[in-house]
Amino acid sequence: MNQISWNLQIFRQILKTCVDRRDLTTGKCLHAVYIKSVVPQVTYISNHFTLLYSKCGRLSAAGKAFAATAEPNVFSFNVMIAAYAKESLPHLARHLFDKIPEPDIVSYNTLISVYAERGDASPALDLFLGMRESGLGMDGFTFSAVITACNDDVRLVKQLHSSAFSGGFHGYASMNNSLISGYSKNGFFHDAERVFSEMGPVKDEVSWNSMIVAYGQQREGLKAMKLYQEMVRLDLYVDMFTLASVLSAFTSMEDLIGGKQFHSQLVKMGFHRNAHIGSGLIDLYSKCGGHMCDCRKVFDEMPDPDLVLWNTIISGYSLNEEFSEEALNFFKQMQRAGNFPDDCSFVCAISASSKMSSPSQGRQMHSLVIKSNIQSNRISINNALVAMYSKCGNLQEARQLFDRMPEHNNVSFNSMIAGYAQHGLGAESLILFEKMLEKKIAPTSITFVSVISACAHTGKVEDGERYFSLMKETFEIEPEAEHYACMIDLLGRAGKLDEAEGLICTMPYTPNVMVWGSLLRACRTHGNIKLAEKAANHCLHLDPSNAAPYVTMAHMYTVDRRWDEVSRVKKHMKDRSVKRRPGCSWIEIDKKIHSFVADDKSHPMREEIYGFWDKMWEKIKKAGYVPDLKWASVRDDCGVTEEEKETILRHHSEKLAVAFGLLSTTEGASLLVMKNLRMCGDCHNAIKVVSDVAKREITVRDCHRFHHFRQGQCSCGDFW
Ligand code: ZN
Ligand code: ZN
Repeated sequence: MNQISWNLQIFRQILKTCVDRRDLTTGKCLHAVYIKSVVPQVTYISNHFTLLYSKCGRLSAAGKAFAATAEPNVFSFNVMIAAYAKESLPHLARHLFDKIPEPDIVSYNTLISVYAERGDASPALDLFLGMRESGLGMDGFTFSAVITACNDDVRLVKQLHSSAFSGGFHGYASMNNSLISGYSKNGFFHDAERVFSEMGPVKDEVSWNSMIVAYGQQREGLKAMKLYQEMVRLDLYVDMFTLASVLSAFTSMEDLIGGKQFHSQLVKMGFHRNAHIGSGLIDLYSKCGGHMCDCRKVFDEMPDPDLVLWNTIISGYSLNEEFSEEALNFFKQMQRAGNFPDDCSFVCAISASSKMSSPSQGRQMHSLVIKSNIQSNRISINNALVAMYSKCGNLQEARQLFDRMPEHNNVSFNSMIAGYAQHGLGAESLILFEKMLEKKIAPTSITFVSVISACAHTGKVEDGERYFSLMKETFEIEPEAEHYACMIDLLGRAGKLDEAEGLICTMPYTPNVMVWGSLLRACRTHGNIKLAEKAANHCLHLDPSNAAPYVTMAHMYTVDRRWDEVSRVKKHMKDRSVKRRPGCSWIEIDKKIHSFVADDKSHPMREEIYGFWDKMWEKIKKAGYVPDLKWASVRDDCGVTEEEKETILRHHSEKLAVAFGLLSTTEGASLLVMKNLRMCGDCHNAIKVVSDVAKREITVRDCHRFHHFRQGQCSCGDFW
């Protein structure tokens, strides 16, 4: 044996150890020695340098090592393709693949996996077919990768499943695991179960975890739990992914009690301080009833929260409207702790600002996004901003942002279409919907809620009915309770109460509170007491603690002067201790929120506000406004005078908020007022006239929609 080949063998050994250990420092020294030495190049060694750099995340060094390989073989190419795959660079991987004189199974499998990871079905499938045509053999990994790539399309999954079995590849765990997730992702749980049970001894931890996740998606927490216990019994290795899957099963079932019991097991096992598990726990508590104290406890116990954990807690708080401010506090704390927000943090923080309905907060968030220079996945941030601007009443800004977006997806369209619908701009909403179809962006169930409600708010009954059937027939979206509620609203507003009731009878499932509530509101608008009683009874049967049906019935009986009935309703409410939510309106002035209840005397500027408003009241009455005393909702038989009724009306919360807004802003500035309940008819009339007399644009967002008052008119055209 001569000296050089002996040295080379040692060299190979050391280099291989470096690759296994990802020891970049030693590897670099070896590389320097290798380049300077007079030893002729050995492809095997060059390949291992490429491999070392790729494993250590040095893509450009890997590329140089590959380019310097004197006689690259198929292994050299495969290593470099895998390096591109690791960095999610499918174009470069493909480019290199096309240069391989004779690609082997590994080349194909690696490239198919690149596409699989991105869910890019068609190039993966093309490669798979090309492989089959070329007569090159396949293995279980080929099938595993191509099934994962196609797992959005259950028909393809089924076809691949049967060819894998006829090819004799059923013994590959990874292939079966891809099938389990492919089936469960598409709702074919029985097929997933069958694959899992037929796997027999080849099952690995991934198979168990995938099946537990599948049960979670199917809201089968007990089955998930059983499978987990089986894993423990069989002494299989249970890792944080298994535990997180069990936890997510409880979350998706909204089973707080089961989740809590599991939490205490996790504590015993010492897993509760694991960041991955911690995220799962925070998710559980925030999604199952908003137990934010528990979320907080879990978070505080984490030794060193990472970005994912921060994002989970921000998202948890932002899910619950009352905690929006807290969500923003966490967002700030996260930055103070030295973490840079990513797009997920921004999306949650923006959504929290829009729930607070604070335009200044939202705007501040937008400028933070711009300053942060965040590049990745901007579309989700832009979508959140569009939704935020429209929820904060600034539809123009929302549309400008929408138009500036480099690309759109269904969420972008959904946000903008919903924005138009809520602002009563039904025509714009429908134009945008047609544009969405033109762009071949598939509408979702949410799109149709907005589209049908846009038709309802603009009185386009026939269009609404057409879209309702289009949704099912063309887009194969099964209408949910929300769509039925919108249809009832559509028919109800147009006075077609019988048709609305008929639709409820033909619903394929039991109508819920939302559906009956919709009918009840329509009955109130059209003064149909008989049907209203029926709808209200259904509502109360389904949710006895809901005050709205009582309030509506009391109002209708009051208008009809049926005092005994009014007393009966009020007694019922009292007996069942149902409390009416007090109406509250608020307005943001100079970044501060001022809220008002009816007849509010708590504001420090109450004297000025009432003084100003009394004068404005006389002006609008001169301009033609007539107080509509029925909205005072007091009984005529209680001896309340007309004058007293007018005073009650004059001090409604939305009027006080508008008065304060006019008083505190410069002439011509527009106002945005929010209300937690539906705006009353008299306030609607009064504010219309105010917009004309005071020459202001006033927007009121109530719990259903936006009203834009301008020059004595409202954008809803009084159709609401
Ligand atoms: Zn009012
Ligand atoms: Zn209006």
